[in-house]
Amino acid sequence: MSHIAIVGAGIGGLAAAVKLAALGHRVEVFEGSSFVGGKCRTESIGGYSFDLGPSLFTLPAVYRDLFLKTGKPLEEELELLALDPAFEYRFADGATFVYRGSRGALTESITDAFGATAAHQWQRLLDRGGEMWRVSREPFIQSPIAPLRSMMRRKGVLRDTRIIAPHRTLRSLGRSIVSEPHLRMLIDRYATYTGSDPRKAPSALLTIPYIETTFGAWHIKGGVGSLSLALARRAETLGVTMHLSTEVRTIETSSNAVSGVRLTNGDFYPAEIVISNADATHTFNALLDAPRQAAKLAKAPPSLSGFVLLLGLRGRTPGLGHNTVLFPTDYDAEFDALFGSSPRLIDDPTIYICSPDDAAMRPHADSESWFVLINTPGTTFVDWNNHETVERYKDHVIDLIEQRGMTVRDRIEVCEVRTPADFERENRAPGGGIYGKAGNSRTAALSRTQNGTHIRGLYSVGGSVHPGGGLPMVGIGAEIVCKAIGPADSEVRTTSS
Ligand SMILES: Cc1cc2nc3c(=O)[nH]c(=O)nc-3n(C[C@H](O)[C@H](O)[C@H](O)COP(=O)(O)OP(=O)(O)OC[C@H]3O[C@@H](n4cnc5c(N)ncnc54)[C@H](O)[C@@H]3O)c2cc1C
Repeated sequence: MSHIAIVGAGIGGLAAAVKLAALGHRVEVFEGSSFVGGKCRTESIGGYSFDLGPSLFTLPAVYRDLFLKTGKPLEEELELLALDPAFEYRFADGATFVYRGSRGALTESITDAFGATAAHQWQRLLDRGGEMWRVSREPFIQSPIAPLRSMMRRKGVLRDTRIIAPHRTLRSLGRSIVSEPHLRMLIDRYATYTGSDPRKAPSALLTIPYIETTFGAWHIKGGVGSLSLALARRAETLGVTMHLSTEVRTIETSSNAVSGVRLTNGDFYPAEIVISNADATHTFNALLDAPRQAAKLAKAPPSLSGFVLLLGLRGRTPGLGHNTVLFPTDYDAEFDALFGSSPRLIDDPTIYICSPDDAAMRPHADSESWFVLINTPGTTFVDWNNHETVERYKDHVIDLIEQRGMTVRDRIEVCEVRTPADFERENRAPGGGIYGKAGNSRTAALSRTQNGTHIRGLYSVGGSVHPGGGLPMVGIGAEIVCKAIGPADSEVRTTSS
C-alpha cells in the first residue's frame, strides 16, 4: 500500500482518488476551495440550480466503468437523461436545424433542413470521425504519450496516419467532406470544445461529433455537477480522506522523488506518491520548482475562457430545448477576435444556452434556469475585474438573445455572471482558461503535458494534461495514472517520461 496525496478535488483528482482507494492505497485529497468538483459544480441560487462548468455529459462509459469497478453502478448513484434532440442550432440568416440523437433521425433532420446531399456528407464525416476514434482510442488516448519513434514503429501506422490525417486541420478536413455552409459552422464549433481555433486545431477533433452522435449527449438529473458529488461520496465510502479549504503550497521532493505536500499553513503530509490535479502551469510554476517544464508551458497560449450568465427566469420560452446555439453572422470574425495577436471581446459572439428540462433545477414548472456561455479571452487579455466591462457585456448578451426572439429581461428572477476571473480564482485555472492550453496546432495532442513526470512518484491528472480537457478525457487521464501506479500490493511503479 502506498500513501498517496492528491492535490485538487476536480473531476480528475476525484476519479483518481476513487480508483486508487479501490486498488487498496491510502489516499488523501487536498482541495483549496470549500467545495469538491472544481469546474464541474452545480450551484443553487434563489431556488434555481445552475451548472457552472460542464453542462453536457458525453461518453458516460468512462464513468460507468469507474463506478462499476469500485462499487455500485453509476445508474444507482445518478440519473442520466439522454438528450434527443441533443442541440438546436439557430443561424443568423434564420436557418435552424435540430441535431437528433440517433443517426437515422439525424439524417432525416439534416435532409429536411439542408437536403439529402448534406445529410449524406454529414454521415461521411461521422464515419471518418468513427475511424479516427477506433485507431486512436487505445494507442493514443487511453495510453501514456509514447515517444514519436516508438509510435512510428507501431503495426499499421501508415494506415492509421492516413485516417487521422495529422497534417490537416479540423476545418480543412471537415470542409473537404461537407460543403453545406451551415454544417461547416457546426464543424468549426467542435474546435471550441477544446478551447481551440478550427483553422489550427487537429482534424482528429472529428472524433467529437462521432462520440456525441454515437454514444449520446447526456444530462445528469439535478445538474452535471452531481457527478462530482457522486465521485466524492464514492471516494469517502472507500476510505479516502478529503481535506477541503486546504491549499497545497508546495509538492516537496528529495533526491528527485516526491516526499509529500506542504500546505499553506505550514503543515507537512508525507506521501510516496503525489498526484497533481492542479493546472499543469500551476503545478510546474508554483507547486514545484521545475523551470524547464514551466518554460515549455509558458510558450503555449491558454485555451479559451468563458463568460457565463446564470439566468433564473419566470415562465417558459416557446420552442426552447435543452441545448441551443445561436450562431453569429461572421464566425471567422469571432475566431479572429479570440485567437488573434491581441484577443478581445466581440459584439457578435456565438451564444450557447443550456436550459435543462429538469424539475430538480428550477423552483417550479413555470420557470427555467439558463446557463449561457460565450467563449471569451481569459484574464491575460481582458480586465474581468472591471465591473463596468462585466455589466456592459452582460447587458449586451441579453440584448443579443432578445434580438433572436426570446424574451429575457421581463422574466428575470436571478441574474448572475461568472467570468474568467472567477474561474481563475475559484478553480485556480491560470488565466481563467477552461481547458488548460489551447490545442492550436495539428500536433497539439502529442505535445500536451504527460501524466507521468520527471520526478519519481509524481503524476498529473486533469484537463490541462494528456489526454486533454472535458469530462471524458479527464476521466481517461485518471485511469492512465491509476494504471501506472497499479494496485497496492505491487511495487510503486514510476515513469521516466
Ligand atoms: C464554463 C465551462 C464549461 C464547460 N463545459 C463542458 C461540457 O459541457 N462538457 C465537458 O465534458 N466539459 C466541459 N468543461 C470542461 C470540464 O469542466 C473540465 O475539463 C474538467 O471539469 C476539468 O477537471 P480537472 O480534473 O482538470 O479539475 P479542475 O476542475 O480544473 O479542478 C482542479 C481543482 O484543483 C484545485 N487546486 C488547484 N491547485 C490547488 C492547490 N495548490 N491546493 C489545493 N487545491 C488546488 C482547484 O481548486 C480545483 O478544485 C467546461 C468547463 C467550463 C469552465
